[in-house]
Amino acid sequence: MSTGSVQLKTQANGVGVVTIDVPDSKVNVLGLTAMTELEAILDEAAKNSQLKGLVFISGKKDNFIAGANIDEIKALQTEPAVKSYEASRLGKAVFAKIESLSIPTIAAINGTCLGGGCELALSCKYRIATDSKSTKIGLPETKLGVLPGWGGTIKLPRLVGLENGVNMIAGATELSGKKAWKSGLVDEVVSEENLLKRAEEIVLGAHPHRASQDIQNQAKRFLLESNPIGRKVFGDMALKMIKKKTKGQYPAPLEALKVIMKSYDQPLEKAFDSESQAFGKLAVTPVSKNLVGLFFAQTESKKMPEGVKPANIEIVGVVGAGVMGAEIAQSAAYSGYQVFLKDIDQGALDKGMTVIRNLMDGLVNKKKMTREEADKVLARVKPTLNYADMAECDLVIEAVVEIMKIKQAVLKDLEETIKKPFVFASNTSSLSVSEMAAGAKFPQNVVGVHFFNPVHKMLLVEIVKGKDSSNETLATGQSFAMKLKKTTVVTGDAPGFVVNRILTPYLREAVVLLEEGVPGEDIDKAMTAFGMPMGPLALMDEVGLDIGEKVIHVLHDALGDRMAPPAILGVVAEKKLLGKKGGKGLYLYDENGKRAGINPDITATIKAEPRTKLKGEIQDRLALIMVNEAARCLEEGIITEPSQLDLAMVFGTGFAPFYGGVLRFADQVGTRVVYQKLDYLSRVAGESYKPCALLTKLAKSGESFYKN
Ligand code: NAD
Repeated sequence: MSTGSVQLKTQANGVGVVTIDVPDSKVNVLGLTAMTELEAILDEAAKNSQLKGLVFISGKKDNFIAGANIDEIKALQTEPAVKSYEASRLGKAVFAKIESLSIPTIAAINGTCLGGGCELALSCKYRIATDSKSTKIGLPETKLGVLPGWGGTIKLPRLVGLENGVNMIAGATELSGKKAWKSGLVDEVVSEENLLKRAEEIVLGAHPHRASQDIQNQAKRFLLESNPIGRKVFGDMALKMIKKKTKGQYPAPLEALKVIMKSYDQPLEKAFDSESQAFGKLAVTPVSKNLVGLFFAQTESKKMPEGVKPANIEIVGVVGAGVMGAEIAQSAAYSGYQVFLKDIDQGALDKGMTVIRNLMDGLVNKKKMTREEADKVLARVKPTLNYADMAECDLVIEAVVEIMKIKQAVLKDLEETIKKPFVFASNTSSLSVSEMAAGAKFPQNVVGVHFFNPVHKMLLVEIVKGKDSSNETLATGQSFAMKLKKTTVVTGDAPGFVVNRILTPYLREAVVLLEEGVPGEDIDKAMTAFGMPMGPLALMDEVGLDIGEKVIHVLHDALGDRMAPPAILGVVAEKKLLGKKGGKGLYLYDENGKRAGINPDITATIKAEPRTKLKGEIQDRLALIMVNEAARCLEEGIITEPSQLDLAMVFGTGFAPFYGGVLRFADQVGTRVVYQKLDYLSRVAGESYKPCALLTKLAKSGESFYKN
């Protein structure tokens, strides 16, 4: 029997193979259509007395089932909670049909098996998974602000134990095939080639090779799970841990823990109902809507300009082996590119190669790759002092010093060396890409590809469209960064692009508050309480005060007084304070790099009387200055979609994801309230708070930044 997304074929040996292959989609998602088709096939299978067993397998490469259809979850978020409750019950009813079959069932997993896919697998009698690198199994729903709603919250802890189950669900962890096997989530690990054959053998009666649970593990499970006291101790510990991690800002992990603990020994039906109730409640929370919004923004960011294909890149050049260049070269080699790393200074080149080697050693030590694999990556990076070695490069990224003339000279030298068309990507943080391309032979091939420091940790890359950058060049820069596993956001060619442009007034204003006499620790604490991963003063020290100083001067020159460097920066320069890397910055640091109070050199220069400020006042000043600048970026067309701006701020600065980004935060406060607060602040705290034209317009007409 065959329908669009799900097909059942009965083999000569009596095994029915259910292949899931959603048409016109790279991955399988379980939307309403696929679930309805699956249900029909299960009804058919239940009536077929010839069937000896059922194997569920995917028709996609490297993807079993990516999860439920998030479009459908999004649609539910505008409905009353009861709709989500019903949707959760209906999904469970389909999977219950797998469990009620009288024949053995097995999920044969290769590739991504997440959310609804994992819940389908949990409904089978057996699960086997491949040892492929692409195999990832888990229930990451809490990342979207909900919990697994098709039975996963209940079934997984019963299968793998309370501790494993809570960690996987509340922590949204994804396991490799081997780790899933060790935890008891899958019954056997096989090679990709053997997957179907072995699945058939198992449904026909062969015993799977299960991982033996060690004695320690068994004892732990016995103590934690078999009696109410053990469970209470575990539940309290887990609650404390989750509260510490989520700081009360993400309700889903806590709710998941509550459902797991409450329903652990309840009859299934009752437990399932608790799960559906919690799903219904969470799906309509603002946090879930915001996290789902970010998920869609990320999907959107992967789209290339219509009808444009990126150029094929095999050989990458990196010019400048300093802080950024070395890490970009490592990241490119790690992603499979052949890389030439060029500098003018042998010492800098050696230092850059040491950075790359250390990063690779780190991956080996963390068991992310074998020594042999790491050595292969290292061998792909060729350090050089000569342009001639770069003649075959398809894309060159420059990360030399931030001086226009030097960058233009590098471009000219490359054009003389590389005889074929190539993409020139600049990692500049503040210079104009259009100006850089002005004297180029092929200005259409010049683009900004702006990484953030440290490259191996920061997930964002801004793709900067110069005046002449062609769509193909933009797409090539984008696909290159995506191959390096980065999230990209396309921005206009304006000072600071998007992230530094919005971050700078925020950091500047934090220093202004310090100068007004507000204790530095209070400023940082207020912003971590707001949801930022670290306070603004600590962040400045982390990035390096020398770097921040360069950026603020560029923005001041271009945008005027609202970006004027605060007086304390004079002291910073005079005392040569570099921030954390130099042991002294706005804070002092101990020998382990831990913050040890505000630097007395800084406090000594503050003339104002010490004054306390309410947390809310600090938060208003610092968050709303970002909103105003973000609105200006939209107004000036530096970025067109609010969702892309929000994505850039969340991925580029860690702006609290539960708010969904700067502009979603503003929409939640309400543009009118934001306007009133800014207007007030402009009178008491300075002109830089004056609401920009777009914000004024939205506030007056009662509109928000997002249209839906
Ligand atoms: P860096 O000073 O650490 O490294 C620059 C390297 O370029 C040095 O090794 C230098 O020897 C080399 N160099 C100079 N002129 C050269 C030439 N003509 N040919 C080849 N090599 C040359 O600088 P960095 O911090 O890595 O910054 C590099 C670029 O990245 C700048 O444009 C900067 O604005 C940008 N950027 C920096 C950061 C950051 O946090 N450091 C973040 C994003 C972007």
